[in-house]
Amino acid sequence: MTFKPHGKHLIAGQWVDGENHFVSEPAHGPSHDFSVGTPAHVDNAVQAAEEAFWSYGYSSREDRAALLIAIADEIEARAEAITEIGSQETGLPEARLQGERGRTTGQLRLFASHILAGDYLDSRHDVALPDRAPLPRPDLKMIQRPIGPVAVFGASNFPLAFSTAGGDTAAALAAGCPVVVRGHSAHPGTGEIVAEAIHAAIATCGMHPGVFSLVQGGKRDVGQALVRHPLIKAVGFTGSLAGGRALFDLCAGRPEPIPFFGELGSVNPMFILPEAASARGVEIGAGWAGSLTMGAGQFCTNPGIAVILKDHAKALTEAAAETLGQVGEQTMLTDGIATAYRNGQSRIAASVGVQDVLTTMCDRRNATPYLYQTTAEHWLANEELGEEVFGPLGLIVVADDIDQMHTVARALQGQLTCTLHMDDSDMETAKSLMPILERKAGRILVNGFPTGVEVSDTMVHGGPYPASTNFGATSVGTMSIRRFLRPVCFQNMPSDLLQEPF
Ligand code: NAP
Repeated sequence: MTFKPHGKHLIAGQWVDGENHFVSEPAHGPSHDFSVGTPAHVDNAVQAAEEAFWSYGYSSREDRAALLIAIADEIEARAEAITEIGSQETGLPEARLQGERGRTTGQLRLFASHILAGDYLDSRHDVALPDRAPLPRPDLKMIQRPIGPVAVFGASNFPLAFSTAGGDTAAALAAGCPVVVRGHSAHPGTGEIVAEAIHAAIATCGMHPGVFSLVQGGKRDVGQALVRHPLIKAVGFTGSLAGGRALFDLCAGRPEPIPFFGELGSVNPMFILPEAASARGVEIGAGWAGSLTMGAGQFCTNPGIAVILKDHAKALTEAAAETLGQVGEQTMLTDGIATAYRNGQSRIAASVGVQDVLTTMCDRRNATPYLYQTTAEHWLANEELGEEVFGPLGLIVVADDIDQMHTVARALQGQLTCTLHMDDSDMETAKSLMPILERKAGRILVNGFPTGVEVSDTMVHGGPYPASTNFGATSVGTMSIRRFLRPVCFQNMPSDLLQEPF
């Protein structure tokens, strides 16, 4: 059934209009009118979230799990309409949207079972020692408690899994934190229909309507009002380095600074070790091209750089170029992202010491793959060659020897992922690189490609700056709930006053 958005914000259970409107810019299909968000909308939403916290923050884990499952069910009840409008707005293929919907409902259900299991509470108990000398020890219990209202910025590149009911929202709701989402203007209709699903689930579960609000569109003042709001206690964000850094600075500069969990840029370098390169250069090159072009390269885990020794580079380079050359035009998420891709590509192409391997032509909202090669020496001399180009662009960095490979690894900025392609006989080289890579990335892979992030208990989707603004956190997987909790110690507390049994 075709979904026709009404274009309103969801604020504390009410669909709210505003004075001004903007028109969506879908990749295909009809555009729609949406109300422009304002700082006043943000204030109403955050006030309601604070009000909701007094009940939701003290709700049982069973009730919150029921809400998360109900949201997943309501999303599935709108499956076809979500796929249709999501694909229209973003240009992503329907199959991708279907997969992303499964991931979104899967992570909501995973958080439900995670909080029911209760390990995330990290309960600790120091039993009282009344007879201890020289001083008795009091009874001390510790659990993790929700922090209060959380702001979430929907991501352009994951209209479902990192947006309205995405990982940040699921983790915050699981923790017991009401959420105010600033919808991404690239997919307002998708945001609205998912908000409708959350709205229905909140009503079914009898939760306070302030538990979830969505403010659409608006200028930068909307996002800024949200992160500056004194009742907001943390922010979840996925997007650009420039945007993330600006919002991070606002959070740090507040009278009461709050944590900003930004997942920003990453080039996700791959190190192709010599034996693997000789034995499997063609296979690795073709696999790389597949990973690089998945979703038009619009993944934060897109492997933008391959570091390889000069004597082994030929087979991989030729195979990557051949496979990339067969990939046609892909629609990008927005006109702005397509322009940013071409600007990034021009910057790389014009850099000293960079040679073309595969150049293509793309215009409007389209992307085609590009492949470049440079030496480690030139790469080390130009910091910009280590910056993310969001799209299907690969850069091969050719090192003279293993020592120079180490130098490249040491010069890397913080990354979401680093990958080693290795055979058994590369083990010593791999061992020598591991301490460097471990300091650089949140996830290190062997013989794989970093696109495709498992949502699980062990996943770390984060890393040192600029991969993220908080290297102790992950934005994917069950550990992401920790971002929205704080430890509270209860001393000599009667059990009737405790939220959780010990
Ligand atoms: P973005 O420009 O960082 O925007 C993300 C969200 O933050 C949007 O809602 C945006 O609002 C808001 N925002 C950005 N700067 C702000 C500021 N100074 N004050 C208040 N709000 C601000 O990211 P994007 O629109 O998704 O894509 C642009 C570029 O981001 C891409 O070309 C790519 O380079 C990068 N990107 C990276 C990843 C990744 O995972 N690493 C993912 C997506 C995008 P407005 O819509 O009003 O600008």
